[in-house]
Amino acid sequence: MSQPTEQGEGPASTAFVRYCIHYRKHPPGAYYGGIEYVAALQKLKASAAMQAVGNVESFFWNDAPKVQVWLCHECAAALGL
Ligand SMILES: [Zn+2]
Repeated sequence: MSQPTEQGEGPASTAFVRYCIHYRKHPPGAYYGGIEYVAALQKLKASAAMQAVGNVESFFWNDAPKVQVWLCHECAAALGL
């Protein structure tokens, strides 16, 4: 589930920022650390985690220490963040 998705037009320097699918609508949201995000996912039930993962661009969990995840408030709440 952790294939990186480099389908954006951003420069390589943004490779370690991931956004939820709502970002383009510019809802209120915030950046979270990759480790924090992964830890939150692991606390969810499998079905909820699958849904949450589907709402956010994926990344290698090994990269979590380097990754920043931007989540709208709705996605953050779903993750308990
Ligand atoms: Zn969202």
